[in-house]
Amino acid sequence: MSPLNSLTGKAKPYRTSGGIAAPRPNPSLPEAQRANYHGCPMEQFDLLIVGAGPAGSFAAERLARGGASVALFDGRPPGDPKACGGGVTSKALKAWPHLLEAVGRTIDELDMYSPSGKRLHLKLDEPFAVYSRIAFDTFLRERAREAGAHVFAEKIAGRGFKKDETGWIVRAQSGKEFSCAWLVGADGANSPIAKKLAGPLPPAEMEVAFGYRAPLPSAGDAATVVAFLPKWVGYAWAFPRPDHVSFGIATTQDAFDHEALDKLLWDFMVSYYEVPQVGNLRPQMRIWSKGARKGERTGTRVNSLRHIRAELEKSAERYAARIPGLEPRTWDTRHACGEQWALLGDAAGFADPVTGEGIYYALRSAELFAEAYLSGSPLDYEKLWRADFGRELQRASQMRRKFYGNFWGAPFTERMIEFARGHRGIRKVLGRLVAGDQGYTDLKRKLARSALKP
Ligand SMILES: Cc1cc2nc3c(=O)[nH]c(=O)nc-3n(C[C@H](O)[C@H](O)[C@H](O)COP(=O)(O)OP(=O)(O)OC[C@H]3O[C@@H](n4cnc5c(N)ncnc54)[C@H](O)[C@@H]3O)c2cc1C
Repeated sequence: MSPLNSLTGKAKPYRTSGGIAAPRPNPSLPEAQRANYHGCPMEQFDLLIVGAGPAGSFAAERLARGGASVALFDGRPPGDPKACGGGVTSKALKAWPHLLEAVGRTIDELDMYSPSGKRLHLKLDEPFAVYSRIAFDTFLRERAREAGAHVFAEKIAGRGFKKDETGWIVRAQSGKEFSCAWLVGADGANSPIAKKLAGPLPPAEMEVAFGYRAPLPSAGDAATVVAFLPKWVGYAWAFPRPDHVSFGIATTQDAFDHEALDKLLWDFMVSYYEVPQVGNLRPQMRIWSKGARKGERTGTRVNSLRHIRAELEKSAERYAARIPGLEPRTWDTRHACGEQWALLGDAAGFADPVTGEGIYYALRSAELFAEAYLSGSPLDYEKLWRADFGRELQRASQMRRKFYGNFWGAPFTERMIEFARGHRGIRKVLGRLVAGDQGYTDLKRKLARSALKP
């Protein structure tokens, strides 16, 4: 039997969305008042939000509920998922419990592997969730529409925004133009709006993540796995979603070697399907094993590995994208807002430089900007994000080198897993890190303190 399930099998959603109400018009939307440079009337809004990912949709929802007239531009082709692991920390689920209404899967245990292949099984006190990005983004976008935001399935042209004395004029690829007082860039890591308004980021401040969407295993529960890479910065993951498994590797762009990393990911994926879970027991993956070991080369295992790979090659869909990974000094110098503009989420560079996690920061930055705007002081957004999570992310970028560096003659991640295997306190700190509840500012202190306790 094939170890791979069909893509439609074994879905385990924990809760389905309760249905989305039909859009209702925003009573505060003014009539078209301005004309463009060709004399044609333009639709006018208080704010134009470019990009309907988590940041843009959540900001649109909050702003529309607060009475602002908002246009949200969704330039993503229908059915094209944003490249993402889809992991949403328990910190985010606690902050916005309505996220649990989106169709996803909760995860309360995972296997972590050290760079040399040692396993740590972690039971989480607080589960996190994994979503398909189509389901997650649709859920948030429809809530924005329901709140009164006007959602346009339009892509804004690369250089289609300009400012005059009264505000912004934005041009969609369809040729339609819109005007507003405030322009909000929520258009992701490659944001042309951010490049123009906050300045471009050098390649060293971008991380790369790529991977494959593949079928669920046909036997047993699909395990959640995070494995630190041997000799590379970063990690590989296997995140089971309701109808498939998202596999991927996140690493730095400056040391990216596509061929070598792709090979590593295929080893990881094949070993994932090789050891299906039996009851509650999941055997250890022979992670990073380059095919069969000595003595097995002509045996049944080699055939089985070949078979798994051949099956996977037929069904796995590849994806790749960039994640911002700002250097410590950039956090001080780069701004996320200015006169009549603001940047949210990835466009602002708000992702954790150690893990690449960005969904929490996309949602939180949207919330903080909406709060500042609705209180009548939009420029306070800069102060708010810095005080809320700016210091934490800056600390994470200072930690990145240490986290993926050496400690007592071995990679820090190797030591961390080794210690956690033998120590409940360290396991607990690690569990809180995965949950998003353990920050980097006091990570070392917490690890050291729990190591001293029996
Ligand atoms: C492979 C990979 C795995 C990841 N895994 C995780 C994870 O497990 N957990 C986590 O927390 N984070 C993860 N991240 C990071 C996470 O995906 C981002 O931080 C998050 O999506 C940022 O949300 P956003 O709304 O700012 O941007 P995005 O989600 O990128 O949304 C931007 C939207 O704007 C649209 N857009 C772009 N240009 C235009 C335009 N000109 N006009 C109209 N629309 C436009 C895009 O199509 C897109 O829909 C991962 C990233 C990658 C690349």
